[in-house]
Amino acid sequence: MRQRHKPWADDFLQEHPDTVISNPVSYRGRWKDVFANDAPIHLEIGTGKGQFIVEMAKQYPNINFIGIEVAKSIIVTAAQKVLVSEQLNIRLLHVDAERLTELFAKDELTKICLNFSDPWPKNRHEKRRLTYYTFLDKYKEVLRPNGEIILKTDNMGLFEYSLASFSQNGMRIEEVNLDLHEADDSTNRMTEYEEKFTAKGQPIYRCRITCNH
Ligand code: SAM
Repeated sequence: MRQRHKPWADDFLQEHPDTVISNPVSYRGRWKDVFANDAPIHLEIGTGKGQFIVEMAKQYPNINFIGIEVAKSIIVTAAQKVLVSEQLNIRLLHVDAERLTELFAKDELTKICLNFSDPWPKNRHEKRRLTYYTFLDKYKEVLRPNGEIILKTDNMGLFEYSLASFSQNGMRIEEVNLDLHEADDSTNRMTEYEEKFTAKGQPIYRCRITCNH
């Protein structure tokens, strides 16, 4: 995703520490206290500009949503959408997903969404893919038993790689969809990237994975 320098981003983040949580590591194991309820927590990794998480939070008010985004200039746009939405069931974290197990305790999450993750097509960048086995090990730890991973992408190479990686790492492939929009799923909420690729007529691939320890 293209990043523009936003000189106001640091001030914005300081002014909104309850939307983009400052010091998120301190909430490990007690995110339910942050939301002040016991609802399941769904995590989106690589939230981008925030359209998906805001729409999901509106659609499912009894679920808590946390979005992780590493790029400061992008997460501030997501935060603006969250503030406008006035949804109380969303928090954003400005961190790298590498730090997942510092952020969440064992079994703390119910679902992880990977939406249009960077494909990193070169072999030498395999470790950066969010479905590389080191990431899957972290997902296994923070997801509760039978927790789910939902992956959506326009990128066939990343999709095939991810299916193989899930399978090789003992996760169960429950559903595979090779053209999400042909299926006309009214519960699907589109991300910014999804809208862009769909408008160009490209198929969107989706899979649902379950994960036991
Ligand atoms: N999910 C959004 C969408 O579908 O419109 C954005 C997709 S964009 C291709 C990928 C996003 O993931 C970027 O905003 C990028 O900064 C973020 N990202 C990539 N690697 C990440 C990581 N390790 N931790 C957190 N965010 C990451």
